[in-house]
Amino acid sequence: MTIRMLPPHLINQIAAGEVIERPASVVKEIVENALDAGSTDILIELRDSGKSFISIKDNGAGMSAAQLPLAVIRHATSKIPDNDLFKISSLGFRGEALASIGAIARLSLHSRQHNQEHGWCLCVHGGELMPMTPSMQLKDQGTCVEVADLFYATPARLKFMKSNAAEMTATMEVIHRLALSAPHVSFKVIAQDKVMLNAVKESLEHRVTSVLGKNFGENALPIFFENDVMTLKGFVTVPTYNHSQSTQQFFFVNERPVKDKLLYSALKIAYQDYIPHGRHGACCLFLTLPSEWVDMNVHPAKVEVRFQQPQTVRDLMYSVVKGSLKAPHTSTSTHLGEAAVAYFEKTLPHSSPSFSSPNMSFSGHATLPINEGPIHGTSGRNHRVSAHAPTHFYSSWKNSNSSSNVAKIMPMALGEDPVSTATVTLDLEQNVGFLGIPKAQLFESYIITQGENDFFIVDQHAAAERLTYEQLKLARENQEITVQPLLIPEILALPIHEQALLLGVREELSHLGVEIDTFGKDLVVRSVPTLLKNVNISEMMHDILEDLRHGDYSTRVEEKLLEKLSRIACHGSIRFGRALSMPEMSALLRQMEAFPLSAQCNHGRPSFIKLSRTDLSKLFERA
Ligand code: ADP
Ligand code: MG
Repeated sequence: MTIRMLPPHLINQIAAGEVIERPASVVKEIVENALDAGSTDILIELRDSGKSFISIKDNGAGMSAAQLPLAVIRHATSKIPDNDLFKISSLGFRGEALASIGAIARLSLHSRQHNQEHGWCLCVHGGELMPMTPSMQLKDQGTCVEVADLFYATPARLKFMKSNAAEMTATMEVIHRLALSAPHVSFKVIAQDKVMLNAVKESLEHRVTSVLGKNFGENALPIFFENDVMTLKGFVTVPTYNHSQSTQQFFFVNERPVKDKLLYSALKIAYQDYIPHGRHGACCLFLTLPSEWVDMNVHPAKVEVRFQQPQTVRDLMYSVVKGSLKAPHTSTSTHLGEAAVAYFEKTLPHSSPSFSSPNMSFSGHATLPINEGPIHGTSGRNHRVSAHAPTHFYSSWKNSNSSSNVAKIMPMALGEDPVSTATVTLDLEQNVGFLGIPKAQLFESYIITQGENDFFIVDQHAAAERLTYEQLKLARENQEITVQPLLIPEILALPIHEQALLLGVREELSHLGVEIDTFGKDLVVRSVPTLLKNVNISEMMHDILEDLRHGDYSTRVEEKLLEKLSRIACHGSIRFGRALSMPEMSALLRQMEAFPLSAQCNHGRPSFIKLSRTDLSKLFERA
């Protein structure tokens, strides 16, 4: 066996394996360079999703004839001031992207600086440097990087490339992240002569919409937090706007797009209470902190970072996002209302002459009593529906129902778990909120309510379920958690290092009602919260361990408790198909207004859909 130094081209190819995985990685590295060079306009062109050709043109500072050959040498960079790895404010710093790309593809660099008569061009093909030539390709300062025949010099890599569609998706995702990180820069992307993205210089708010679409923008809640050292700003979406994947979650640390486990998990925990298991909220969040607090150099592609104080970052992310989700915002995802209107528009014949019957029916199902609900019926007066303040309607309704000014609603009929037996008493004098007053109940399941300029269709079961859940949660927060000592303690036979992990969070577990203790050479669970007495304890403890092994503080106990609470809530709530009296409906609405997050049930389905007067005018072609 002989040990020998590898030839430089092989070293570059090996290193390229880490940095350049697919066309998306090429695009990422070159766009990062363009941003680092201070560009304000970036044009990206792709052929075969970048497999056969990528061109990226910027209007940044450019490179001089003397610098160009250095740019393609490994470990040559202009970006680490004072040779201090913890003072990096640029996206690049490893000095290996261009060298790597040159090693595995045909790379051409055209670059021109301000006030130069012409630019220069340098080509590297499969690691071989060509002589530099003058270039007229650029009219002004900037750089144009062209990459042809990716991986032609390392054909084995070609086999790992996916379909054009899959590569394009990956590339667009990279571009989206970078475009979100720099709204002050215009981005245009052309693939196979089709414009894939055309974002002008704009505010972050507009950029979010340009890149992630109108739906994201309309359902976004702004986030802003600032203290002496850190800021967190951006947007998270309302809980009813959720997805099966976390692909709509965008994080930036000091303006660098990152995919960081800690940030994902903090977000997940912040949302956990508001969206169903396995669904994901969407976000675009920018964290800024002193550069010494974060190590960017933990991943060749620089997408992971390491925080000096992970707990501080996690707590900040969690509390700020949760605070915003918890705020009594009252909307469900806007696309729901739009979808409803679109549905009716489709279903209703456009200019049907046959609307002679006073009882119009939608798609053959329902007969809608228009304007003459039981409210008005009792007094015999005929209230015209018009744009008065809802309180006005409310008082006229109240007068006509003088028999019961106080409505009682039993939000839950608890089975096995006596968490709370509170009866909520509601005084009908209380102010009518945004949900307005109930007008009718349909199919003994849906409540139609009218506000000032909007009307709502409320899913009574979904709404009641959420309310019950919120009330149970409140009860849990206010009372001490009731703890159930186990008659036969659960023995956990675990290796010593795993026992140590659990013992390390003993105090936190005990706060949640889970008492653990050593027992000989094993660990035992002595008590659990009463609510969890029927869960598989050993399974839960192993789940907790799994989380701890991955470095995340476990939220299992919390999760299990909430899961349990929501199940009870679901069973104990007003069912579908139950006739409700007007006071009951009204009480339900007033409670919904009082509780944040009533816009959805615990399974993340909306509990009401909002439609406007304008929607109605549109439907009847009055607009
Ligand atoms: P890094 O970005 O880590 O420094 P790269 O291999 O990506 O390493 O680039 C090497 C150097 O080439 C950069 O440090 C920069 O000085 C120069 N460079 C690359 N692309 C551009 C560009 N688009 N505009 C100006 N300079 C560039
Ligand atoms: Mg770079």
